[in-house]
Amino acid sequence: MLGLMQDWPLTVDKILDHGALRHGHREVVSRSVEGPIVRTTYAEIHARAKRVSHALLEMGIRPGDRVGTLAWNTARHIEIWYGIMAIGAVCHTLNPRLHPDQLCWIADHAGDKAIFTDLTFAPILFANREKLPQVERFIVMSDEAHRPAGAGDDVWMYEEMLSGRPTDDAPWGGFDETTACGLCYTSGTTGDPKGVLYSHRSNFLHTLLTLQTDVMGLSATDTILPVVPMFHANAWGIAFSAPAVGAKLVMPGSRMDGPAIFELLETEAVTFSAAVPTVWQMLLQHLESTGEKLTTLKRVVIGGSACPESLIRAFHDKYGVDVRHAWGMTETSPLGTLGAPDAEVAALPFDQQVPWRMKQGRPPLGVELMLKDDEGNKLPEDGETYGHLMVRGGTVASAYFKNAGGDILDADGWFDTGDVATIDPTGCMQITDRAKDVIKSGGEWISTIEIENIAAGHPKALLAAVIGIAHPKWDERPLLLVQLKPGQTAEPHEFITHLSGKIAKWWMPDDVIFVDEIPLGATGKIDKKLIRARHASYRFPGTLQPA
Ligand code: AMP
Repeated sequence: MLGLMQDWPLTVDKILDHGALRHGHREVVSRSVEGPIVRTTYAEIHARAKRVSHALLEMGIRPGDRVGTLAWNTARHIEIWYGIMAIGAVCHTLNPRLHPDQLCWIADHAGDKAIFTDLTFAPILFANREKLPQVERFIVMSDEAHRPAGAGDDVWMYEEMLSGRPTDDAPWGGFDETTACGLCYTSGTTGDPKGVLYSHRSNFLHTLLTLQTDVMGLSATDTILPVVPMFHANAWGIAFSAPAVGAKLVMPGSRMDGPAIFELLETEAVTFSAAVPTVWQMLLQHLESTGEKLTTLKRVVIGGSACPESLIRAFHDKYGVDVRHAWGMTETSPLGTLGAPDAEVAALPFDQQVPWRMKQGRPPLGVELMLKDDEGNKLPEDGETYGHLMVRGGTVASAYFKNAGGDILDADGWFDTGDVATIDPTGCMQITDRAKDVIKSGGEWISTIEIENIAAGHPKALLAAVIGIAHPKWDERPLLLVQLKPGQTAEPHEFITHLSGKIAKWWMPDDVIFVDEIPLGATGKIDKKLIRARHASYRFPGTLQPA
């Protein structure tokens, strides 16, 4: 027997409709790419998002078409994001930190028909125009006065594109809730980057899930600063959850350094923020050096990489800010777990809470977790036994875009996260290791395989291996190990020169060391586990021990 409740498709256009109707006056403040602070409201964003939809339809964008954005966190990005999704097209957030070749590969693989770009990145796209044959139009997110040099006939300026278009009557919603809505590629896997294709339903559910009190617990009284970029798994859902509850939004634009973040936190009276550990390290360093205090900030969510104890303590002891450690993935929309204390933990003195707070937290309703061993057997959740962390739920990917990588779920529908973890009897998960062979630096992935392939192509190299070394600012940085061909000698700079221009600058290994042997495992593959163990105590010259 079926229930007799209304069929009300969970589509994200309803989120902005609601935000504009019920919280239309609430402010969205952006540090614009042009420089000045710009203020708008949910009502204005809603009206301009409709104009974006009209423009897209005129361009020939239809349901299912992919439209890229290469942009910082600003109000304009939100307008574009909803303008695309609300007509059933797919908003593909591109990551500008990637090497231009990889960026173009991703945009081409996605089949983006149009790309919205901030002024910052327009030159990259124009210089690589021939690598984007499927793109019919670029829209530069500024006005005619800022038209970039080299902009061809296929370039529209955003403000002129919106001007004069209607602010209503755009055909928003009206499609099935399982319709594709957003696309985000992850490099956190082996091989080529893979696209995670969110649906309206998964994003709507994720919004409800993150709004639980013990998750992000956002409210109409909050002022939220999402430092985590919208191109990184939907800014952890905040571009949905803030309008959903009518929280004021503060968008940092291109500046994520300590002084810039501090200025916004204080001048806009921010109560809640979210970012990777590196951003918070930079903010705390700024506070230390200036003696400034945080007068309004109450809670921060820290995730993307393990949150160091020093951050949790400094925020609590010196600034009275509650740190919520979170774990998630692009494939999980992204939130998977979050460390809000339960009754027993909350009753402990703070010092005794710290070991618990360093864990990655509990899954909220809607996310299932499980540990399994190499043979696929379920492991106990005793807080000590570690195994492959498996995840399942309505906000978890079932396949990658265009089925890249084939089947990604096991027979029972579990997705292997590539993380190794424990789960304790209270349901609290802790990451203990990473099975996937990648490095995360400042919240962004570095592909070890790509660097190894290029390094191994050096005429003096026999084998090359890259591992991540703990780093106090960036969490991890790459170390390149090279086994030279017999009789060869080399200097580190020869390999750095060889890699230059072929990888993004921030992917460049911090050091190159020459070893007698790069160990191979039973299947002939480089034994990274053994290499990591051998170099566990290695530290880059000039860096302190990580806190
Ligand atoms: P991404 O898809 O870029 O968001 O990366 C997801 C991956 O980042 C996870 O599978 C973990 O390897 C890592 N990660 C995310 N959050 C944490 C955390 N709090 N602690 C440790 N690793 C994390």
